[in-house]
Amino acid sequence: MKLEASGRPFAVCGDELCCVGGGSSVELRSLAQEYGTPLYVYSGDQIVERARMFQNAFADRAHTVCYAVKANSALGILRLLGDQGCGFDIVSGGELARVIAAAGPERAHEWTGRVVFSGVGKTAEEMDSALAAGILQFNVESEAELELLAERAELLQRKARFALRVNPDVFAETHPYISTGLSAHKFGIAIGLARGVYARFREHAWLEATGVSVHIGSQIRQVEPFQAAMERVVALVRELRADGANIRTVDGGGGLGIEYGAEEFSPAAKVCAYANAVRAALGDLDAHLLIEPGRFLVGQAGALVSRVLYTKRNGEKKFVITDAAMNDLIRPALYQAHHEIVPVMQVADAEAETVDVVGPVCESGDFFARDRSLPELEQGDLVALLDAGAYGLSLSSNYNTRLRPAEVLVRSGEAKLIRRRETYEELFAPEMV
Ligand SMILES: *Cc1c(COP(=O)(O)O)cnc(C)c1O
Repeated sequence: MKLEASGRPFAVCGDELCCVGGGSSVELRSLAQEYGTPLYVYSGDQIVERARMFQNAFADRAHTVCYAVKANSALGILRLLGDQGCGFDIVSGGELARVIAAAGPERAHEWTGRVVFSGVGKTAEEMDSALAAGILQFNVESEAELELLAERAELLQRKARFALRVNPDVFAETHPYISTGLSAHKFGIAIGLARGVYARFREHAWLEATGVSVHIGSQIRQVEPFQAAMERVVALVRELRADGANIRTVDGGGGLGIEYGAEEFSPAAKVCAYANAVRAALGDLDAHLLIEPGRFLVGQAGALVSRVLYTKRNGEKKFVITDAAMNDLIRPALYQAHHEIVPVMQVADAEAETVDVVGPVCESGDFFARDRSLPELEQGDLVALLDAGAYGLSLSSNYNTRLRPAEVLVRSGEAKLIRRRETYEELFAPEMV
């Protein structure tokens, strides 16, 4: 695999794998030595570069890139993107609290003003905190939710700006667990019913319909579904305006996919194609565009660095047992996801062998790769699981009472610990005996 042509910020320097960016490089081996393993390493340079790609691609129209916090909610990454002018797409009160913490007291108000709140099950408490924070808009997913939002807004005497998240019934090829844009999915309000819902709440004193939103799923590699969905949204916006609604934002959601395999990949070309598709659908519509990329900003920027604890043979099969496990990175177990695995020390002419790479957790689903051809690995070797920046630590758990990994953010050759490893005391702290 040619790492340089794959859009990843990891490359071989000398005889070892480094995190590269901003004209500098940092050896993963030295980070593993300093911070221990398993360890998430992110290229801050790449995250910033990706955000700029979207911002530049839409520079000719009013827009805000609202980073989908659930992809990786590290405060250090939120800070980086907020500083870059990004807004945030949140799905819980916890994520709102993260945005506020990342912003700091001085900028909390400014940053929450760029927050959109998505999700099918917002609670009254979550609505209250978002109303108090003065977020940009609620992306509402049902009529019942809109009724509750109206109640809370009236109670707090704070007007709630909202968009309906419409379900455009557009098919996008991706894993069934992360596809959301078909009427069979739990997300959004059927687009055919949306106009009636907007009409029903038009006169409400504490609600203001400011937008229409859509999100069709995740890890979508084609750009046509984004265009198809946006075309339906634009048609709806025109109808709503004809009905007298003051619709100012259109939210295209997130979901643009990255390359997890060994194919060449140009992120800049992908963003360009995506922007052209969205722009074609928008046409001359005068509205502030919101987009909510998550994975595309942070996915390829991250690697999970892990040490080989043991190797062993069971009959025909050879197993490489790493100190990282499904609790640290669940994508292979949950979505049958593929992650490239690269030895940190590159041995010239290393023999390839076919192995299963597995973690120590007591589940047969705890694997990172099956029947994978890799250079021969030995006890004590370091490996990097690539493209682990999105839905890695944010989907991690303490299963098997394992401490979650530390996280390091690299910018221009400087590594910064943005999350230290947990302690057992912290894990038990909420418990009582
Ligand atoms: C998860 C999610 C996103 C981000 O999806 P990515 O595939 O990570 O880009 C954006 N918007 C909404 C509403 C989401 O649920």
